Amino acid sequence: MAHSCVLLKHGEVVLKGRNRGRFEELLQRNLRTALDGLDGPVRIRTSRSVTVLTGPVPVERMLERVRRVPGFSVIQPAVAVAKDPEAVADAAVGLLRDRPVGAGSFAVRARRRDKDFPMRSGELAALVGARVQRELGLPVDLTSPSVEIAVEVDRNEVYLSVERLPGQGGLPVGASGRAVVLLSGGYDSPVAAHRAMRRGLRCDFVHFTGAPYTGPSSAYKAYALVRELTRYQPDARLHIVPLGTAQRSLATAGAGRLQVVAQRRLMVRVAGELARRTGARALVTGDSLGQVASQTLSNLATVDQASPLPVLRPLLGWDKTEIMEEAERIGTAGISRLPDEDCCRLLAPPRVATGTTPGQFIRLENRLDVERTVGELLDRAQVMRPGRDEGEDGRENAGAEDVRAGAEDVRAGAVA
Ligand code: ATP
Ligand code: MG
Repeated sequence: MAHSCVLLKHGEVVLKGRNRGRFEELLQRNLRTALDGLDGPVRIRTSRSVTVLTGPVPVERMLERVRRVPGFSVIQPAVAVAKDPEAVADAAVGLLRDRPVGAGSFAVRARRRDKDFPMRSGELAALVGARVQRELGLPVDLTSPSVEIAVEVDRNEVYLSVERLPGQGGLPVGASGRAVVLLSGGYDSPVAAHRAMRRGLRCDFVHFTGAPYTGPSSAYKAYALVRELTRYQPDARLHIVPLGTAQRSLATAGAGRLQVVAQRRLMVRVAGELARRTGARALVTGDSLGQVASQTLSNLATVDQASPLPVLRPLLGWDKTEIMEEAERIGTAGISRLPDEDCCRLLAPPRVATGTTPGQFIRLENRLDVERTVGELLDRAQVMRPGRDEGEDGRENAGAEDVRAGAEDVRAGAVA
């Protein structure tokens, strides 16, 4: 009996040689987690570089989830039929009959993953094509058809599909280890996080607020952003760190035009310590070279010098318009667009130094006692898990309830 299913084509995992087994395992685990909680059991079957999903769940619901799992390059809603050429032809006719092709043309592309199938790919395509032509009166056009029917002969079944949706591509999350993302409320850092996830980094997040000198709006946005991003990665921690007092100390210690870069140096030190505690091996930021004064080459280098770990900048070569488009595509733009009180604007000097060197920060940071400050900031951090069910962070964190409720409003506003 013909039934609908979803085909997931494995992306780069396929190229992994000796490590392929480990990558495939991660991919399957992430897939299972992504499908958790759908109202019905989904059967997952994998043979070589294709995974097939079947079950009583509407295909749309499955697609929504799997299109966000990094590691799958192409996703095809499909019909599965028995390995009988006539059944394949019937299904092809059914597929095109249900689909408005207009006066358009079609092509059948067949391939065999089961080389024992008695018919060659070309013969099967010809047979199916002839039937469609005869029954629906559509013309064949092999060079630029308006619809393409893909016929894939597998071990137990034959799959037919007319739609090829792009998957996330990239590598399964976790394949490259862990990272800590410095997440602001802006457009850039969530896009950078998504890029990092797509290259296999499992991400946790740290967000700095200007508390006690600013309100909680940026924390609400950070929470809402992380929740959006946990659709690409199963689960993530968000650390919210109140930076205001330390920012004030830097200003009092005479940071002047160095204020913003000094804050960044402090941020990477805090993030680096968090990374050490969670086993992360890199930091990720949304910096793009030259976008603003704090992102000149020398300022980036001055920040790097303070970081105990490599600072990855996936958006280094991106233009702002490219970043905004990507933010729309991955679903974070609506949240980033909302107003907030960004800690970086607090105490920002009228002109930010564009050409700094690490040496300029020695006296300033000694006055502040950076080591101690990092420890104090981490003691005051609040940890949340925005991808989880309500209540789970509430137990371990005072104030978590408020942040979650605020994020809820943010999201409602972002969606409206
Ligand atoms: P974004 O759009 O991500 O805010 P931006 O273009 O506004 O970036 P900056 O404000 O200079 O650029 O920030 C550069 C990077 O520093 C951010 O992408 C982010 O990784 C990090 N960062 C800045 N502010 C914060 C913050 N409050 N908390 C955590 N990370 C931050
Ligand atoms: Mg910003």
